[in-house]
Amino acid sequence: MTFCASIQCIDGRIHDAIFSYIKGNYDIKYIDIISEPGIDGILAGDDQAYIDLIFRKLQICVDVHAVKEVFLSAHHNCLANPGEKPEHMVQMNRSMEKLKEHFPELIFHKIWIDENWVCSSAD
Ligand SMILES: [Zn+2]
Repeated sequence: MTFCASIQCIDGRIHDAIFSYIKGNYDIKYIDIISEPGIDGILAGDDQAYIDLIFRKLQICVDVHAVKEVFLSAHHNCLANPGEKPEHMVQMNRSMEKLKEHFPELIFHKIWIDENWVCSSAD
């Protein structure tokens, strides 16, 4: 049983795409979801209490499912965190710095979901 965690927006348009992408490209059987509206913006921002809550959720995935690989995504037309792809990429990079600092033992990947609801690697 191989679990990963997906840190992603709540937007219902992205879930199928993320699942297909991860399962199609990685040896992963189950995907734990950590979801908040516009989550890349939250992680990149300065609401530390909110960020700590997300970190706590990820820690549970690590503790109970031995998660070693984590996918952070951002998507086109995010209504909770509006912005074009370049802005989301900046936010994902900031998010990634914080995640890697807090969870140095984990492997992280970035995913962008485009206007056709198709995922691509943003690593
Ligand atoms: Zn969104």
